[in-house]
Amino acid sequence: MTNPSLLILPGDGIGPEVMAEVRKIIDWFGAKRGIVFDVSEDLVGGAAYDLHGTPLHDDTMAKAQAADAVLLGAVGGPKYDVLDFSVKPERGLLRLRKEMDLFSNLRPAQCFDALADFSSLKKDVVAGLDIMIVRELTSGVYFGEPRGIFKEGNERVGINTQRYTESEIARVARSAFELAMRRDKKLCSMEKANVMESGILWREVVTEVGKDYPEVELSHMYADAGAMQLTRWPKQFDVIVTDNLFGDLLSDLAAMLTGSLGMLPSASLGAPMANGRPKALYEPVHGSAPDIAGQGKANPIACILSFAMALRYSFDQGEEAARLEAAIEKVLADGARTADLMGPDGGTPVSTSGMGDAILAALDASI
Ligand code: NAD
Repeated sequence: MTNPSLLILPGDGIGPEVMAEVRKIIDWFGAKRGIVFDVSEDLVGGAAYDLHGTPLHDDTMAKAQAADAVLLGAVGGPKYDVLDFSVKPERGLLRLRKEMDLFSNLRPAQCFDALADFSSLKKDVVAGLDIMIVRELTSGVYFGEPRGIFKEGNERVGINTQRYTESEIARVARSAFELAMRRDKKLCSMEKANVMESGILWREVVTEVGKDYPEVELSHMYADAGAMQLTRWPKQFDVIVTDNLFGDLLSDLAAMLTGSLGMLPSASLGAPMANGRPKALYEPVHGSAPDIAGQGKANPIACILSFAMALRYSFDQGEEAARLEAAIEKVLADGARTADLMGPDGGTPVSTSGMGDAILAALDASI
């Protein structure tokens, strides 16, 4: 049997630094748990532009399409700000998402107990929080036509169109129900069915798809009420599914309940491939952080947690993903802190590689 393949795209800025720590973790799983990947590495973003004059070479795109999963660091940086829009580093990432047709964006909001003080909310509201927002990523108001700025009489009018087909709603709903089945079997769908026809259709289609998942407790909430409930008592939720625009806002809101940008992973999933695995891109939520790049200050945990998501959602290694998450929890509880996590409780300052090494030691202790 061949090993599953993993394409690694470190990218720019702190991308290569945090990815170096993920490589150590991947090697650990190979050596100590017999979970071996065929790992290949390539360029994306500014790094690809520097070599090829494009932020994503066609060969790299083809490798991404063929890989069982893609793990990306971050792209962008001030050096590339002057480039034409068509070759900006972010275009490489957008091309990956678009051509792989990654319609389901998973953004967990998980609060590690040791970091509960970092939240802007009271500790008891966020401690132990573990929810997942599923955002539709490839349709809705960011893509709908007509769009543009037009002249109407003697003033301009800006137009964007919220548009969803039944099949677009059904496929992201299905992915959210599947996720709910692996978790607490509780799904809340959020839209604005009170004022938007696309919201009415969203609610109808999600309800229809739900008939295939009788074990999942489905509820519906208007997205504005959802935002209030997320800040009031977020632990009432397990999985939330919502459209592109509301998901953009709600996932940022939920993520920030838990503290630092350096802690937030994400997954973007598409349709199943011939081997049954979904097309998948895993990446931290943060960018290339040029202000701290090259200084050993970056927190690698968001990228390492993205690999944990890959273990769980692409490679059916949920127990090993939990092992990795528990190792991170332990390291944080023991007080290891990269610069972004240094708070009022003090803690032991560690570098990017120091954090990676501490997680490896905790993994060693777990077996
Ligand atoms: P950013 O996420 O790179 O940084 C925002 C702040 O958070 C900075 O102060 C940074 O030092 C800090 N930070 C981010 N990640 C961190 C980590 N892992 N550890 C510790 N601190 C961390 O956002 P930005 O500054 O707005 O953008 C910088 C560049 O990244 C831009 O070129 C932007 O276009 C790009 N960007 C890329 C992505 C992506 O690749 N997915 C996402 C957002 C921004």
